[in-house]
Amino acid sequence: MKQIYAIGIGLIGGSLAKDIKRLDPEVVIHGISRKEATLNEALALNLIDKKATLDDIHKADLVIVSIPVDATVALLPTILDKISDHTLVVDAGSTKEAICKSVEDHPKRRNFLAMHPIAGTEFSGPSAAIDNLFLGKTNIICEVEKTAFKLQEKALKLFEGIGMRMRYMHPVAHDKHIAYVSHLSHISSFMLGKTVIEKEKNERDIFDMASSGFASTVRLAKSSPEMWTPIFKQNKDNVIETLEEYINNLIQFKALMEGDNFEAVFKEMKDTNHIRDILNGII
Ligand code: NAP
Repeated sequence: MKQIYAIGIGLIGGSLAKDIKRLDPEVVIHGISRKEATLNEALALNLIDKKATLDDIHKADLVIVSIPVDATVALLPTILDKISDHTLVVDAGSTKEAICKSVEDHPKRRNFLAMHPIAGTEFSGPSAAIDNLFLGKTNIICEVEKTAFKLQEKALKLFEGIGMRMRYMHPVAHDKHIAYVSHLSHISSFMLGKTVIEKEKNERDIFDMASSGFASTVRLAKSSPEMWTPIFKQNKDNVIETLEEYINNLIQFKALMEGDNFEAVFKEMKDTNHIRDILNGII
């Protein structure tokens, strides 16, 4: 796969472009974006070799779609309309059910592979792209049986080549589980940041007193609202379910404090320390 068209060249698209180019310097990365300024930045950063438009993607061996999930749902059918019979299209969206649904009856459905690379940072845009973002990370593939076998093989070779391990999941299960391990963490971080900013009007004080614990817990609150709002919209039901459980836990914890039940407070934290063992197997 030598002619690669990256639709969206921010953190994910740009980092994929870097890793793929390092794996095979002969590939030509063509960048497609809404804004000319974004394309120019991607060119200057050597994330892409050439600028392109959607009308060029009939020449693609691979199209990588890394734009917000609402834009992916809107654009994916048009992308499949425009590709050749041998082109593989993958998307990197953080939700999977709506994206898979958007092309379920498309005549070129077998050219599409739905995936979610579980890798990222809180930064966005071309300047956020980094080397080896995907090394040792999981790539969740959905509805693999709906992708042509030859194209599955090409995708596997490429994504294993940049260091990812594949996991297979139904899109509905993906969206349910990812709501807990990713979407809730972001809301929790945003609302923690909001709570502290509202209370501590003097931002200098926050900066002086903030420990590394605060910084690491609130890190995700720097994430892009343009990217996250469509994710919460598409995964609304699952995210609300996780929020209800989280809010209940907060209310229970507060009640234990109000009742001076510090033995129970201790036990809550002790039981949750088990997260160490779980995370040891992941990061
Ligand atoms: P990003 O850094 O903000 O880059 C987004 C790219 O999409 C930019 O090139 C932007 O180009 C373009 N774009 C923005 N809004 C658009 C719209 N309405 N229509 C068409 N293009 C648009 O975002 P990212 O973090 O790379 O995320 C890209 C995808 O990867 C998303 O689907 C996200 O859910 C998924 N993902 C993200 C992470 C993460 O941690 N960030 C992890 C895994 C998967 P212009 O500047 O030209 O508008």
